[in-house]
Amino acid sequence: MAYSANLGGYGQLAIANIGKQTQINLSISIPGQQQSQSSSFSTGNWLSKPKLFQLEQGFVLEINTNQNSQYILIQQNSISTIESPPELNRYPQIDLTAIAQESNFEPMQPMQPLKMGNMSMNLNSMSMQMGNMSMGFNNQSKTSINKQFCSQCGKEAQLGDRFCRSCGHELNQ
Ligand SMILES: [Zn+2]
Repeated sequence: MAYSANLGGYGQLAIANIGKQTQINLSISIPGQQQSQSSSFSTGNWLSKPKLFQLEQGFVLEINTNQNSQYILIQQNSISTIESPPELNRYPQIDLTAIAQESNFEPMQPMQPLKMGNMSMNLNSMSMQMGNMSMGFNNQSKTSINKQFCSQCGKEAQLGDRFCRSCGHELNQ
């Protein structure tokens, strides 16, 4: 199970239950830069979809596991478990959107498309080289075309011959 949540101007949160770990990835958007931090907690398996609440000082994630409810406080620069949360019902809840497990937890997510862009550029230049290689092949096959063979008896003919020296068949020059 993996979810993401948009924390408004604060950033983007992604959570996942990997094994018995709850993994949290927080991407903070500050104008001009992107900060990202990940934390992992031994919470056990989630029994249900977690809940995310917005408090004055940050966000609290409520996780229901077989070790009962656990709470994780998410603030600007810290992600930590808390023993006893405040009365969460007083606070607005933030929607968690189910996401594919693979598409999360890349701390440098914004960098990856750039790298992939470079790779695809490399691939393009490779395919150009492959184009050159296939031109080379064409040149080779041209030289073999210049060697003529009689279409009647198959004997090799000399360049410029109009008729086969073996059987006299007219050669297509
Ligand atoms: Zn011939």
